[in-house]
Amino acid sequence: MSLSMNMLSQSQLSGFSDFDDHQTVYTIRDDAAALNALIAIHDTSLGPAMGGCRMWKYDAHDAAIVDALRLSRGMTCKNALAGLHYGGGKAVIIGDPHSDKSNDLFHAFGRAVESLSGQYITAEDVGINADDMAVMSETTAYARGTKTNGLGDPSPYTALGVFHGILAAVRHRFGATDLTGLTASVKGLGHVGMRVAAKLHLAGARLIVSDINQANVDKAVKAFAARQTEADEAHRADADLFVPCALGGGLNAETIPQIKARIVAGAANNQLAEPDDATRLMDRGILYAPDYAINAGGVIAVALGRPGSKVSDVTAKVEAIGATLAAIFTRADLENRPTAEIADRLAQERLAAARARAAA
Ligand code: NAD
Repeated sequence: MSLSMNMLSQSQLSGFSDFDDHQTVYTIRDDAAALNALIAIHDTSLGPAMGGCRMWKYDAHDAAIVDALRLSRGMTCKNALAGLHYGGGKAVIIGDPHSDKSNDLFHAFGRAVESLSGQYITAEDVGINADDMAVMSETTAYARGTKTNGLGDPSPYTALGVFHGILAAVRHRFGATDLTGLTASVKGLGHVGMRVAAKLHLAGARLIVSDINQANVDKAVKAFAARQTEADEAHRADADLFVPCALGGGLNAETIPQIKARIVAGAANNQLAEPDDATRLMDRGILYAPDYAINAGGVIAVALGRPGSKVSDVTAKVEAIGATLAAIFTRADLENRPTAEIADRLAQERLAAARARAAA
């Protein structure tokens, strides 16, 4: 066993602009297993840190630290806003998910997670699939979202939450209680996007679909009588809703002025290129469903979908994403502030209340 775990010191971390008083960041090495990883624990005021494990071929170790800091802080907000009793954490494994995976590597990573005795709970993220999680869970009890200890693939729950978020946005912006006659441009037809498209179709919306993978487009065109567009045209499609479900951002100073839809509500993470984009959307009268609020269905399923738990309790909590978004939209209108800012503030308020309770 050659696993080593070292805490990065405050002085090592303070040079990173994404450092936000993170509680602990571990560097993890196991040369025999070719493991080079990080676990970042941002905040545990609400409970043990929960967040996925990403596997990515980072160019430099510092880039992996930046990602771990940014993503773990994001999980604190996401878990708080979703009303979960979990704090924020994230792990990154530095390596190529196509060529560097091995049972030894995931066993070693699992041992690292296990050594934290539940302070950090891991799950799937980019580059990690259900099979990898199953291997990890052979050496740790703190790997969630596998078929044996939970509900498996979180994507259906993420899609359900996005659908309810869209319903809340439509109610708020158009005063409509259903989607009949509305057109949605869905960009990205993967695990989540295809399911969101199916729900929108069933609910009576017309669909414009796009993906860089033509097979996915063909499938959606056939299944949902959808019209196709180019992926880089999706945001300016003649639609009532823009539903980003691909990877990465896409809302920026160039694209926002081109959006025709009155609502942007989709699953993709980190949709805003920079914080000012939230104001740009508001100034154009576009109702934006903050990404980490609308796409929390997956983490809710991972957190609550434990052996013995009722699936109906999990889906009820996922569907409540609609109510959370409705509250965000109303407060944003009242205060004339961007919805993304209100989501951040709501999350911070929940954290402050938890800290105050802990201190009392
Ligand atoms: P996925 O990899 O299954 O699907 C992504 C789809 O987007 C693929 O079909 C891909 O071909 C397509 N795509 C990639 N780049 C594109 C581009 N430039 N233009 C158009 N299409 C493009 O991923 P997923 O699990 O469906 O997740 C989608 C998004 O939702 C991601 O941003 C992810 O981080 C986020 N998200 C997913 C979950 C979940 O439970 N899976 C939870 C929260 C957030």
